[in-house]
Amino acid sequence: MANVVLPDPDATLAQTATAFRRWLTELAAELEPFRHEVAEELDLAYARFRPLQRLLWDHGWHRLGWANEVGGLGGTPLHRYVVAEELAAAGYVNPGIHGSIEIIAPMLVRFAPGLAEHHVPVGVRGDEVWCQGFSEPDAGSDLGSLRTRAVVDGEGFRINGQKMWSSNGHIASWCCLLARTGEAADGYRGLTMFWVDLSSTGVRVVPTKLESGSSDTSEIFFDDVYVPNTHLIGDVGQGWPVVMYLMQFERGAYAWGRQADLHTQLTELIRDHADEFPTDADEIVGDTYLTLLGLRSRCRDTIGELAAGNDLGPAFSIDKILLSTAEQTVTEGARKLLHPRLELAADDDPVAELWRSRWSFSRITTIYGGAGEVQRDLVAERLLGLPRGR
Ligand SMILES: Cc1cc2nc3c(=O)[nH]c(=O)nc-3n(C[C@H](O)[C@H](O)[C@H](O)COP(=O)(O)OP(=O)(O)OC[C@H]3O[C@@H](n4cnc5c(N)ncnc54)[C@H](O)[C@@H]3O)c2cc1C
Repeated sequence: MANVVLPDPDATLAQTATAFRRWLTELAAELEPFRHEVAEELDLAYARFRPLQRLLWDHGWHRLGWANEVGGLGGTPLHRYVVAEELAAAGYVNPGIHGSIEIIAPMLVRFAPGLAEHHVPVGVRGDEVWCQGFSEPDAGSDLGSLRTRAVVDGEGFRINGQKMWSSNGHIASWCCLLARTGEAADGYRGLTMFWVDLSSTGVRVVPTKLESGSSDTSEIFFDDVYVPNTHLIGDVGQGWPVVMYLMQFERGAYAWGRQADLHTQLTELIRDHADEFPTDADEIVGDTYLTLLGLRSRCRDTIGELAAGNDLGPAFSIDKILLSTAEQTVTEGARKLLHPRLELAADDDPVAELWRSRWSFSRITTIYGGAGEVQRDLVAERLLGLPRGR
């Protein structure tokens, strides 16, 4: 693009934040459509925020922290985490799809550099959507029992099975799929991660309507789907370490982006609706704010560790627990502060509608990315060394 001055990957984090804020001010008119979140279906939200992803790519902000090999400008991942927080703090809606990029792209970079070279730039600039295919009807918390099979066929594999709850599934063009290449008795061993083209013959994607009314997840059926060896993520049989690597970003880096969004949601709620708040509002706002600050403090350390390339082990379960607690505290706080609008207002009240959909979504934050009870078990057993309860 002509006349675009790309950000400096050698700048300090404070300098990056300042430069990004200046850019936001200069482009305020162009960015205005990306300021307002509304309750809407995923495909509509993607279409609406895709130009923002493109703009952030073209102006280099979303290229910070990615290596040159994948279209990045260099710098550390902390640069782009700072950009995410500043974007939210300025009242813009983080392109939602970008959350899944921050989870999946680091895995591609680490375990499938050839695939990353092509797909990371295309995904980060908003031109394709990716999803995760891990959970199955009989395998969620216990992925070791998954049954989708991949069998060697010439220079690739044939895949048969069913995945469910794949976020973004019906708008995704690629899926990172965990399948069994070993024996069922191998459990967590004998799993392999694949990068599957969802336009392949034999793939069928069926959206699932959630209680919130939106179709954010899908079932994906694989009927003799061919995947070439070049689309392996990591080695055959290494699926478990690969998915655990991804989970650090799903439970850690994703939480950083969400805390930034939640801070802005709370700030805007207070700014726009304080005159309707009940008499005990100070206590509700105080509790909510403290929960968010706790999450932010934790996530700040976590993204530092991730940026340094350190393995977090089971510690990222703490971020996941704090995030789901914060999601539910903020939305429950909003419900009380706006009472009785969430319960009683009609669908044509956009504020009630938006907070209702956020409230519904917050209920599932203790399920996706790993159920809350399982995260607590991991913290108890593997971090605190408490005796196993079963
Ligand atoms: C909105 C949403 C988005 C999702 N996105 C994706 C996605 O993109 N990709 C994907 O692969 N999956 C996705 N999932 C699936 C999600 O990861 C699983 O639902 C989750 O891991 C729980 O698995 P399950 O549903 O099979 O429940 P189960 O594992 O059957 O758990 C049922 C209950 O038993 C409890 N439980 C199970 N095991 C234990 C244990 N060892 N100790 C204590 N309690 C236990 C659980 O806490 C839970 O309360 C998504 C789910 C939702 C709701």
